[in-house]
Amino acid sequence: MRYSKFFIPTLRDDPADAEVVSHRLLLRAGFIRRVTSGVYDYLPMGLRVLRKIEAIVREEMNRAGAQELLMPMVQPCELWEKSGRLGKYGPELLRFEDRHDHESCLGPTHEEVICDLVGRELRSYKQLPMNLYQIQAKFRDEIRPRFGLMRGREFVMKDAYSFHADDADLEREYRLMFDTYTTIFNRFGLKFRAVEADTGSIGGSDSHEFHVLADSGEDLIAHCEACEYAANVEKAVSERELPAGSPAELAEVATPSVSSAEDVAAFLKVEPARLVKTLLYRLQGGEHDGDIVAACVRGDDQLQEIKLAHAAGSDTVEMAAEEEIRAAGGVSGFVGPQGLSCRVYVDATLEGAEGLVAGANRADAHVTGLSIARDVGEAVIVDLRETRAGDRCRRCGGGIALSRGIEVGQVFALGRRYTEPMEVMFQDPAGKRAVATMGCYGIGVSRLMAAVVEQCHDDAGIRWPLNLAPFQVALITMGQGEAAMRASESIYRELSGAGVEVLWDERRERPGVKFKDAELMGLPVQVVVGDRGLERGVVEYGPRGGDRSETGPDAVVGAVMELIGSGF
Ligand code: ATP
Ligand code: MG
Repeated sequence: MRYSKFFIPTLRDDPADAEVVSHRLLLRAGFIRRVTSGVYDYLPMGLRVLRKIEAIVREEMNRAGAQELLMPMVQPCELWEKSGRLGKYGPELLRFEDRHDHESCLGPTHEEVICDLVGRELRSYKQLPMNLYQIQAKFRDEIRPRFGLMRGREFVMKDAYSFHADDADLEREYRLMFDTYTTIFNRFGLKFRAVEADTGSIGGSDSHEFHVLADSGEDLIAHCEACEYAANVEKAVSERELPAGSPAELAEVATPSVSSAEDVAAFLKVEPARLVKTLLYRLQGGEHDGDIVAACVRGDDQLQEIKLAHAAGSDTVEMAAEEEIRAAGGVSGFVGPQGLSCRVYVDATLEGAEGLVAGANRADAHVTGLSIARDVGEAVIVDLRETRAGDRCRRCGGGIALSRGIEVGQVFALGRRYTEPMEVMFQDPAGKRAVATMGCYGIGVSRLMAAVVEQCHDDAGIRWPLNLAPFQVALITMGQGEAAMRASESIYRELSGAGVEVLWDERRERPGVKFKDAELMGLPVQVVVGDRGLERGVVEYGPRGGDRSETGPDAVVGAVMELIGSGF
């Protein structure tokens, strides 16, 4: 491709609204442009990378025996009613009515549509298993679209859905997909980790997420430094001992205007861990929708809200308002678990603990000597705390460390969560009708493009791995001399003829500008042709950001092919 004929609107300066490296560099290098909040154009350079990511995903999915299909972006809401998810999915589901008053939505995921299709066509166990996938744009009306392609409203996903006659076969496919994902992310050359995951609004039993490790990641993941255990903190479990305390009478002490856990601990001279932090929440969704519940964790821990939602059987939880706290018998800033009129959940590390400090449910007062068993008898004991660095692993006692991750894929063993309500049935070998069991497997294709840049960049720009680069070679012609142009053109033709993707920068620009752009766009190999070199019978070539070698213009194509072949 000749640079002057190609649409690459690079930016000289950093865009003001780009908070993370990938967003900044993809905008600056002319790969993407924002259309509106969370919605982007993929410009020709960006699309070339997107297509390469897709190709690798497609190749490995096909190798694993999955079949590609394409489903529509617009889905009828009836299907979501049938699966029981219409009310649950929340405002991320963009809904609208067409001219015939039919309610439709833009697909955020396709369990409903695929179950509808397979349910209508499936007859016999002989057709199973099957794994169908697509690579397609999804729409989720995210509350906070940000970081460019990382969290868009419209984004490209690979979503696969598998159907099985029994759970053992689903488990086999789940493992196959897990291994396939591992191969895919290895092919991208990414540092990543597979972690146990919460199943979220999709539901089902077993789930793993794949995270690209990056400080800019929105997810926090915990892993054991001694064994294989790794999980999203939404789900991670670990141990931390509670410092010992002794039994005592419940007594009230004045703590005027002192309410934060650290301040109370300092004021009463107790360890923060021995203070009970009591938080009131309103349940959203589920059987007890709207109920107020209390959740207690020790003062040095944070509550993991997703764990509370699971324990209470709700979809999500929201902080209770001042008047709801009062109605439950609490006083904002001084809430304790004793004597509340709502259900109380207590974190498992506090089970049986005595001599604790808690809010007194009166303004400017706390209690000491609190015993969970004696004073909060009705409490439900459950794991609620968020895993912290330095905790101990439940499996092996090793140290737990935390890192940040970008979720680029997730696999779910769904079981019959969708196939049952959507009636995906088949005839088993005995001639009986049975409900199929199901798995689903997503990869964030467009998010991956950002994740790769987060891991592969330097001060000058993007450092695309060879197999994802929009072009493998930047051919830079210095000056407009006739010899340089002629030699460049012949190198360009020869490399292109050999199947190498070359971006030939033949613009009337200063060499400095050309080098800057090539580095910004991140093309892995540079070939530099100038009149002065040619007078000495040489051109230069080398990896981006590395040392360049000299060779004759006739030898450079072979040398570049060798460099590319080495994978450097
Ligand atoms: P997240 O927790 O980041 O919101 P999710 O768990 O809701 O993601 P899934 O339903 O598991 O997402 O979708 C499969 C994949 O699609 C995710 O692993 C992620 O890589 C990608 N993805 C999800 N939401 C977005 C988004 N808003 N923008 C870009 N990619 C996304
Ligand atoms: Mg997910």
